[in-house]
Amino acid sequence: MTETLLSSPKRRFLSGLFGGRKGDRISVANPTSIVSVELMEKTGIFFPDAHLDPHKMAELAAGGYEILGFDSIMPEFSVQQEAEALGCVVDWGSPTMMPDAKTHPVKEVEDLTIPDNILEKPSMAVLLRALEILKRTYGNHVAIVGKVMGPWTISYHLCGVQDFLMWTLTESEKVKKLLNRLKEVSIAFANAQLRAGADAVVIADHATGDLVSPKAYQDFLLPVHQEMNQRIGGPTILHLCGNCSDRLRLFVEAGFDGYHFEWQVDAKMAVQVVNHEISLVGNIANRDVLFGGTPEDVYKQARYSIEAGVDILAPECAVPLQTPIANLKAIVEAAKEGYVAQGPAAGALIFSPEGLSYGVEIPCSSSASRSTARFKKWGRPSWIETSLSSGNWRKSSMNSEPIFSTSMRVWQVGMRSMTSVGWWNSFKKRSRFR
Ligand SMILES: [Zn+2]
Repeated sequence: MTETLLSSPKRRFLSGLFGGRKGDRISVANPTSIVSVELMEKTGIFFPDAHLDPHKMAELAAGGYEILGFDSIMPEFSVQQEAEALGCVVDWGSPTMMPDAKTHPVKEVEDLTIPDNILEKPSMAVLLRALEILKRTYGNHVAIVGKVMGPWTISYHLCGVQDFLMWTLTESEKVKKLLNRLKEVSIAFANAQLRAGADAVVIADHATGDLVSPKAYQDFLLPVHQEMNQRIGGPTILHLCGNCSDRLRLFVEAGFDGYHFEWQVDAKMAVQVVNHEISLVGNIANRDVLFGGTPEDVYKQARYSIEAGVDILAPECAVPLQTPIANLKAIVEAAKEGYVAQGPAAGALIFSPEGLSYGVEIPCSSSASRSTARFKKWGRPSWIETSLSSGNWRKSSMNSEPIFSTSMRVWQVGMRSMTSVGWWNSFKKRSRFR
């Protein structure tokens, strides 16, 4: 396929990140590391050197564009750069082992000292130098992506994961103080990365879906993330692992430009719930597909995500070090096939007044004043039967979207009774058809 529009990888990436013009195909990028042992062998640059030497860091990262064909170059491979600068002893690992913080020196807020010259600490300065090198070499063509750890992730390293999570339950004031102080590190580092040449900055803040509740995210991190997004002077992408299906709207509220998400969050659901108010970056599964699967498996997931309307394709998280290059390239191959031809509506979404979301599948060939559809309440495993009334809709022509002309009532069918869930008047406005 010839690529006439948005032909530079950088423009394709930025357009995806801002939900703009789609061009001929989706952008493929990596908010987190795509370095594997095979990529190290191909570039001749290995961990742990690449974590600590700016030239090696830049050159290994550039393999993502040069060898894999991604639209982005992202040079931070580990999650420990800030931790070492703040006093953790870090084991920088090996070609087959990611770095790890070996000590957790902060037990009280008073134990935390943020050096004035933190950006000059070697483990952080290396990234700024690498970004400058990449900007000079690739900045006119490829998206240069920076990455900082958010205050929640830095707290894990400084305090230990278990202690920190325990404090969220028992010592909430202490947690808030730590997050408030550490957010300054994330903001300063992000802005320095933008000045050094990053086109966008990933904020990795591992309040992981399976460990942290939506309520805890809302109480502790939402205000912190909102402030960070106001004070960081460029595009931001949240990386937050785990199944976060139940809190996607909170990430929209936090004001990020993009959310980097996992395969266990269904892409079709996610696209509908976030309603293009944040761009979705993801979500090819690491363990089962990129690491454990075949290029064909990768292709299938990539095509599913493209059909769903994800804005930028990416592995869901830092890829396992044994990931085959062929599987990473298969993401790019799937993207090069372009978008899916737009057919008539297969689904739509309604937001209830309470902010709950429901998916709906509606047949698109019939015309009825009353029809029954199957609704799925997202985030819950079971389908619930519902009924639509006054669903006067029609297909205006073969190629256009069905139009809902009137309001619709949705019923939730319980064991004995039907409960009215609510009326929606501007159904078309609130929904998206793909
Ligand atoms: Zn992750």
